[in-house]
Amino acid sequence: MIILSINSGSSSVKFTLYRMPDEIILAFGAVERIGLQSAGLEYRNNRGNIHRRPAHGETVQEAVAELIGLLVHDDVGVIKTNQEVSAVGHRVVHGGQTISAPTIIDDAVKQIIAENSQLAPLHNPPNLKGIQACESFFPNIPHVAVFDTAFHATLPEHAYLYGIPYALYKDNGIRRYGFHGTSHQFVAGEAAAHLNRPPARLKLITCHLGNGSSITAVKNGQSIDTSMGFTPLEGTIMGTRCGSIDPAIVVYMMTHLNMKPDRIDHLLNRQSGLKGLAGIGSGDIRDVLSAMHAGNPRAAAAIRLYVYQIRKYLGAYTAALNGADAIVFTAGIGENSPEIREMVCSWGNGLDNLGIVLDTEKNRTASLTAPEIQSENSRVKILVIPTDESLDIARQTHALI
Ligand code: ADP
Repeated sequence: MIILSINSGSSSVKFTLYRMPDEIILAFGAVERIGLQSAGLEYRNNRGNIHRRPAHGETVQEAVAELIGLLVHDDVGVIKTNQEVSAVGHRVVHGGQTISAPTIIDDAVKQIIAENSQLAPLHNPPNLKGIQACESFFPNIPHVAVFDTAFHATLPEHAYLYGIPYALYKDNGIRRYGFHGTSHQFVAGEAAAHLNRPPARLKLITCHLGNGSSITAVKNGQSIDTSMGFTPLEGTIMGTRCGSIDPAIVVYMMTHLNMKPDRIDHLLNRQSGLKGLAGIGSGDIRDVLSAMHAGNPRAAAAIRLYVYQIRKYLGAYTAALNGADAIVFTAGIGENSPEIREMVCSWGNGLDNLGIVLDTEKNRTASLTAPEIQSENSRVKILVIPTDESLDIARQTHALI
């Protein structure tokens, strides 16, 4: 059975085509920077063909059309017709209160995704566009939505309620939902497999550090607390998002700075975090690290804030779990930046009082076959585990249909 796993974001569409259940990748690729002059397409198939070219489409619909055109292409394609695909699994960020499990997409589900757009304005709208585009190319097969919020459906009340009148939770659904659930779930499972321990007897802190960053306390295979909240804006500072701030700042911006909600939303989601602090026009941590190394003090401050906030979550979740067995670093920054991992674990006097001690050399050379980067005297294992949300989406789609 062939399953297409797709992640349609605001500026990119990424896909992987799997043969299931053996999880063989037939092809994968992405269109990045959709709508910009520099938009590019990359496609790879299982015969080793790599196809790169500028992408001309301006919309998610056009990006999906370009990718699917390659899947059925005479030379580089891996299927003869669209009809060989049995199901499409879509990453959807916010399922709100209504949905907490993978779900076959129908009009009612699309309506829910649209309604939750106000909670995830950067994500749900392009997710929905990706669904609509794929439905037009694959009209008669199941499309499954796999929600980032689903893994956090196990949060206990004391972790998901905010200290505001209860009616706002009951009547308006204002609560912590948590995000990056597929990623946290996937790496928690991989960590358990690596440590050869049943997930049901393991306490983990999973750090998904990418453009968006979130940290989750996983106890006995279940999410018990997570740093993102009602929307993916809460938690640590991120590439362009502010993370947790005093909510009175928003009121101050409205009443004293005369800023309208749309402007504040834009400012907090797209102009803040590393980008807003460093002031170099980029929220990509590679750019901010380069600026820091070149002596830019604001870039250095931005990096210190990012690292300091992650360290505080490690402390908080060590307390929530009453001691962690392992910490997992994953996603773009977590997997690829030994420098950030080292700053998180070893800054100042380190985290040895929490039982967390990094081995600098192992950290530098971490790999798929050597994911453990703690020193011998570390009580807590420190692991670098690549996340694979697309595989997790394909697995969950396969399981559902
Ligand atoms: P998303 O949250 O969009 O899925 P990713 O998990 O792909 O993001 O992570 C993107 C982030 O990873 C970017 O900020 C990028 O700078 C960072 N990143 C990628 N490679 C490296 C690297 N070698 N060193 C440091 N950061 C990296």
